[in-house]
Amino acid sequence: MEFSPELQSSSAEGVLTWAVQAFHPRMALVTSFAAEGVVIIDMLSRIRAGVRVLTLDTGRLCPETYDVMEAIRERYGMPIEVLFPRAEAVEAMTREEGVNLFYHSVEGRKRCCAVRKVEPLDRALGGLDAWITGLRRGQATTRTDVQKVEIDSHHGGIVKLNPLADWTWDQVWDYIRAHDVPYNTLHDRGYPSIGCAPCTRAVAPGEDIRAGRWWWEQDPVAKECGLHPAGHRG
Ligand code: SF4
Repeated sequence: MEFSPELQSSSAEGVLTWAVQAFHPRMALVTSFAAEGVVIIDMLSRIRAGVRVLTLDTGRLCPETYDVMEAIRERYGMPIEVLFPRAEAVEAMTREEGVNLFYHSVEGRKRCCAVRKVEPLDRALGGLDAWITGLRRGQATTRTDVQKVEIDSHHGGIVKLNPLADWTWDQVWDYIRAHDVPYNTLHDRGYPSIGCAPCTRAVAPGEDIRAGRWWWEQDPVAKECGLHPAGHRG
């Protein structure tokens, strides 16, 4: 599938409007309710009611993440589809390697992300033609080539939409403040990127925005959970 250069340079709202016309209802936003995700939810609420919103509950999320999930649900009156990992896979993993296996090795961390995040996402995307994410090029060195519209060969060739691909962190916050969008209060406490509680910590002013994720690991390329593998974009 070819996407026009005009689409790739469209505004975030323009990309979402095109996507709703092209794919609804076989499309969903997948979000962790970080700042980018709540911006997209607000935009979608203005474009069309009923676009599906999915989130992955790994079982290790921060309490503040559940709080913003509820705030969004109340503000926009939208159902949120919460995806859980397979219980038997979590039980086998924790029996074999412990509940905090991510601290023991990169392999253990990747296994935990695979069980708690990647498999539930793969399952959810199986029935869709397109999915929307909050990826931005400025989030990480592994994301500098993110396009607004991509073919996701890692998920069966469905369309992956990253409407905020060219947004800056400041633009995200300008939008949140201008539209009074509910957001995760951990952002006010030095968390630019929010993942699972045991694997995320605050960063110092000026530090890389992903520095608080799996902070004990040194390799920035390895510091992805597998939801957005690089090198698969068509
Ligand atoms: Fe497990 Fe940490 Fe990955 Fe969450 S971020 S799934 S706790 S390794």
